[in-house]
Amino acid sequence: MDDLIKGYRRFRSGTWADQRARFDELSRSGQQPQTMLIACSDSRADPQMIFDAAPGELFVVRNVANLVPPYGPDSHHHGTSAALEFGVRVLKVSNVVVMGHAMCGGIHALLHGAPEGAGDFVGHWVNMAERAKLRALHFPPEKRQDYCERESVRLSLENLMTFPWVREPVAAGELALRGCFFDIRSGVLERLGDDGSFHPVADAGAS
Ligand SMILES: [Zn+2]
Repeated sequence: MDDLIKGYRRFRSGTWADQRARFDELSRSGQQPQTMLIACSDSRADPQMIFDAAPGELFVVRNVANLVPPYGPDSHHHGTSAALEFGVRVLKVSNVVVMGHAMCGGIHALLHGAPEGAGDFVGHWVNMAERAKLRALHFPPEKRQDYCERESVRLSLENLMTFPWVREPVAAGELALRGCFFDIRSGVLERLGDDGSFHPVADAGAS
């Protein structure tokens, strides 16, 4: 906890002081983020940092392997679906972005089973992406992790369209669904194109 407190003190003297006017405005008028981000919980792939986002810009939900479950309202507890409902129906974001990342432990669990001692929830959760795992069997073993990390993004985008209150604003042109992938080894972000493939985003100033 000591490191956290040190970080908090840096925040108070840095970001909080620098962004004070923005926090004041956000506390008066409420948040109006344009973008909802669905990302992995991995400590190395933080959307706020990668997109250099200001307070109030991103509405974020993070879970193991950036997975969106299919629409299935019932009496169970659905954290990701609840965040999605809040972002889309209450905040009325214009974009929902699913971001995958390299070296994902959740995708490793999908391919090789849940880590020792994590048998209650992780395996069942990542098996949501079993389709990606089955498709990955067509690739050599060393390519399967890369493939599934990107396929998990496509799968989540497909599952987003099973939510009626996502499908309707998408059809009306009021909501856009996007996919991207962050490689923690190179720091490069890739965008999912209309061609179904991921393409690196050029750095500022690159030709
Ligand atoms: Zn991950």
